Amino acid sequence: MSLGLYLHIPFCSSICNYCNFNRGLFESGLKDRYVTALDQEIRGSRVAGSSGAPADTIFFGGGTPSLLEPREIAELIRACRETFDVRSDAEVTLETNPETSTLERMHGFRDAGINRISFGVQSFRDAELKRLGRIHSADRAREAVREARAAGFDNISLDLMMWLPQQRTSDWRENVESLIDIGPEHASLYLLELYPNAPLKEEMARAGWSLAPDDDAAEMYLWSMERLEAAGYRQYEISNVARAGLVSRHNLKYWQDGEWLGFGCGAHSTMAGARWKNVSSTEDYVTRIGMGEAVAVDRRELGRDTRLEEALFTGLRLSDGLDLERIAARYEVDVWARYGVALQPFLDAGLVVHAAPRLRLSREGMLLANEILAVFV
Ligand code: SF4
Repeated sequence: MSLGLYLHIPFCSSICNYCNFNRGLFESGLKDRYVTALDQEIRGSRVAGSSGAPADTIFFGGGTPSLLEPREIAELIRACRETFDVRSDAEVTLETNPETSTLERMHGFRDAGINRISFGVQSFRDAELKRLGRIHSADRAREAVREARAAGFDNISLDLMMWLPQQRTSDWRENVESLIDIGPEHASLYLLELYPNAPLKEEMARAGWSLAPDDDAAEMYLWSMERLEAAGYRQYEISNVARAGLVSRHNLKYWQDGEWLGFGCGAHSTMAGARWKNVSSTEDYVTRIGMGEAVAVDRRELGRDTRLEEALFTGLRLSDGLDLERIAARYEVDVWARYGVALQPFLDAGLVVHAAPRLRLSREGMLLANEILAVFV
């Protein structure tokens, strides 16, 4: 399988009150130094066996990668192409926030070599966007998608978040209908996760905002997957749907036991049975690269059992589930013999489906994925 290349861009125009990613406020000077460092890290990539390796995806994630100038994106793609054997038909994704998007920039990103845009829309309701601290409006998001289309993008993904403060099931349905009206090729639907010190938690307490009951969240999820299927999308992962043939090839590497290299602060890599992570701080990253020091920390070899656990854990997130024969060939283990007893109650409850050689979660099982997947850990 070819490699995926991930480039982390840790800058945002403002910080959303629920966000736990590795990011900070945009600063032009630091951004310039960061792009230079990232270029250097890619070109200087000296990981055994990685230089010249075949790659078929490049993913600019963040943060807000669309805050970079198109010429900077072009330069980083060039660095990837000159360091790795990037396939001519590679999927090249740019995560984009609607507020940073203009028709001119979309043309620029397309000319730079981006062929897939992933918009962080989160909601088509202005009141919900405001509660999340997002700085775009629903109209701006719609306009941004139109601009991307006008610039020639034919592979667009939208992210929506469900189970937002004060969101009723009818509000969520309205969001999904808006998404279907706009008609992206791909969509990711995530449940809002509130990490312990999220400012949004305090705001919720202050303003008296609440989350809908768990049963409503389950209903939102199940309803949206059915509605999207009726609209021509296929669910291929717990949180992801796509039109035929337009799944995220890059993200599939994470779920299909693949290999990828991450560049930039906080980026993770998994290759040749090892995993490592770059330093998280943007300043530290730039300084280390400037001084010719290593940025990778926390390197560890992944033993066979760890790799197997992860393959099971991530593979079951896919709608097609796991091919147990493939797992047996790769890891020399009979998954059913090892985990069958622990899985049986979930099978009896209709949450897991075993139709040899495949093992998968039912849609109801996807709602309880964390509990079920714990069987493998
Ligand atoms: S735009 Fe995305 S990465 Fe940036 S603060 Fe908001 S949620 Fe976090």
